[in-house]
Amino acid sequence: MSTSLRCGRVAALLLAGSVIAAACGTDAEESEAATTTTPAPAQAAAPEQSVPTEAPSSTGEDGTPGGSAPPGGSAPADPAAPPADPAPDEAAEPVAPAGPVGSMAARYLRPSGSERVLVQVLAQDGAGPRTAAPERVRQVLAQLSGKSVAVAAAGVGVGGGARSWTSEELRSLADESAPAQTAEQAVLTLLYLRGGFAENERAVGVAVRGDVAAVFAERVDEAAGMLGNPSAVEDAVTMHEVGHLLGLVDLVLDTGRQDPEHPGHSPNRGSVMYYAVESTLLGSVLSGGPPRDFDQADLDDLARIRNG
Ligand SMILES: [Zn+2]
Repeated sequence: MSTSLRCGRVAALLLAGSVIAAACGTDAEESEAATTTTPAPAQAAAPEQSVPTEAPSSTGEDGTPGGSAPPGGSAPADPAAPPADPAPDEAAEPVAPAGPVGSMAARYLRPSGSERVLVQVLAQDGAGPRTAAPERVRQVLAQLSGKSVAVAAAGVGVGGGARSWTSEELRSLADESAPAQTAEQAVLTLLYLRGGFAENERAVGVAVRGDVAAVFAERVDEAAGMLGNPSAVEDAVTMHEVGHLLGLVDLVLDTGRQDPEHPGHSPNRGSVMYYAVESTLLGSVLSGGPPRDFDQADLDDLARIRNG
């Protein structure tokens, strides 16, 4: 449950306990595309929102589960202030900070969006990634975008232990340690953390901004409890959250195919974008294990986004 960007649906989403919020007033796709290569100081990013991924809560599938993300979290970064870190590249031009989930899809996928993509992994000790999930993200992203994609993970640790993370804290973590977005390089940050998401205790993963997603180790174990395969869960959840960052489902396009019960998700149980993939109730919903890949409809959407 989580996502949707059409304003009209935002309220419904929030009520649904879902997470991804969208920026109202902003037609994500187009506006983002516009910011894509524009080095100009961006207009303020729309109200950020997290797209948690939620869990099919037993009580809340359509009610508000334990924690819907508040709309309008604070904007990520002060639009007036450039990101703190100096761009790694010599003459890298800073670009507008990422907006809501889905807002970076064009930058990641379109040839005009960026020359290359960096998958920045930030992790706490003991939180993973325990699989090659980031490497699979690199491969899939390279294939989808036709761009050079690299994974940076070494040496960037996150201190502290298990805790309940808010959307704002997750965004701040990325801003503190990941390289800034530049016109040449689009950065996608994956956080592997201990604990869980403060706004939805069943979320195994969550996308909290156009360029930031998190996977929670303890929730991975919980979701894997009935399946006995945490690696499969971590891998699937990582790809699921990346799918949201790439605009799935209907965060950028408006195909009408998203699961009406779980906005932002695929109605196909065989797609990694099925809502239950990011829920701790995964095992009880998908007894055969989580789907790991995008289905054809997802791939068709991604191709459309790429081709503009
Ligand atoms: Zn999701």
